Amino acid sequence: MESLKDTMTRLVPMDEEHYQPSLLSLQGLPSSAALSTLLSDLEQRIEHEEHWRRRSYLLADVALCERRLTLALQRDRIQATRPADCWCLGTGGRRIMTVDIGAPLSEVVWLETCGCEDGQREAIRRDTLIPEARAKANEVMRVGKWSHTGIPLRLQGCRLWTWPTASKRLDGAEMLGARQDWSVYIWGPTGRGKTGLAIGYAWEYLQRFAPPTIRFVDAPALFASLRATYNRQGESEDAIINLYARCGLLILDDLGAEQVKDTTWLEDRLYQIVGHRHANMLPTVITSNVGLDELAGRIGERNGWRIAEMVGTGNVLNLTGCHNLREEP
Ligand SMILES: [Zn+2]
Repeated sequence: MESLKDTMTRLVPMDEEHYQPSLLSLQGLPSSAALSTLLSDLEQRIEHEEHWRRRSYLLADVALCERRLTLALQRDRIQATRPADCWCLGTGGRRIMTVDIGAPLSEVVWLETCGCEDGQREAIRRDTLIPEARAKANEVMRVGKWSHTGIPLRLQGCRLWTWPTASKRLDGAEMLGARQDWSVYIWGPTGRGKTGLAIGYAWEYLQRFAPPTIRFVDAPALFASLRATYNRQGESEDAIINLYARCGLLILDDLGAEQVKDTTWLEDRLYQIVGHRHANMLPTVITSNVGLDELAGRIGERNGWRIAEMVGTGNVLNLTGCHNLREEP
């Protein structure tokens, strides 16, 4: 089938050696009757015009008018082959709009479509392409957001459906439901794919709720960067804490694994993040090697209690019984 672009630029066969008009350029021409009247007016004025310069202007107008009349008659011949209510000459519509369906492709559609069969076909095409282009734009925006989350490149492709243990995967997908304040706690020994699963949830969350920001941080690395603010100029401790306390969705990986001498210091810093997220019902995905009760012993009671309340009873995933992905099956 001929594409809209081809139809628009399709050249109308001309007998004359004049330029070949496209269907699109014929659409806007005045009626041939109006052009005939204008032409005879101009010819009469030439007869009575004695001034040579004004006469030459009129002659130029006549030539132009004749050309347009030829085109209008050409248009009329095409129009005669079209249904009675059709004004589009077979292009389907008028007023162009370009929709991007993912670079470098773009499509041309009509804003206004004709009532004829061609027009109806073009209307359907437009009404499918525009939502498609919007969905594409959203997807591009989401993927763009994704690559700036801090998720390690190797893990950015993790999705719920790529996670190997199906039953846990399904539990989680249901868990997400329609709640935007949803949080989850994933725990189990090393090698069970906790981080990959956490990222799969985060992606699912992004698709459903499009949070303004997403951050991924490895808990031991987070505490190391907070400690480092004591020894250097630059990023302040508050700035780092705010980054993780206020982001739209936080993935806090490997919580409880950090080795610290001063637990009070760690508890206080962590509480600034966890307490804020708890109070503001901000979704958080946490992974750990230990269960919730043991976690409280490592990060302090108040942090443990806040986390338990955020995730509720249903959103704790224990992967202990799952296959170790780092061992041969
Ligand atoms: Zn039409």
